Amino acid sequence: MARIKGRNTAPELIVRRVLAEQGFHYRLHAKSLPGHPDICFRKLRKVIFVHGCFWHRHTCTRGRSNPATNVDFWAKKFRKNVARDREALHSLKALGWKCLVVWECESKDRIRLTARLKRFLSRSEVASKNKT
Ligand SMILES: [Zn+2]
Repeated sequence: MARIKGRNTAPELIVRRVLAEQGFHYRLHAKSLPGHPDICFRKLRKVIFVHGCFWHRHTCTRGRSNPATNVDFWAKKFRKNVARDREALHSLKALGWKCLVVWECESKDRIRLTARLKRFLSRSEVASKNKT
């Protein structure tokens, strides 16, 4: 719970391990990019965010759970987090980057995660899907 914007969280390490197993080369914590993506593929112009469900307000059970005290404080904090995430994705897309968000709960299913990462990093499939 203490890791609000933690680096090297358990889900992130899982994602990195899968990428390494699949032979993908990446850079970590691209500080020059909007939102500081956790994992960056410069040549492919693709980035991956690994989000904690609680802090980034995923639609799963954990992401919808709320602390019982300081309700206003948390509501405000969560709103800020979500707005910041949305802004980062928006800016990255505007700059021509493809983005993938992997939620903490999704990192637990290794087989699905692997398939998803491979699909994201292979060719143009994601590009056409994200076009709005
Ligand atoms: Zn979740």
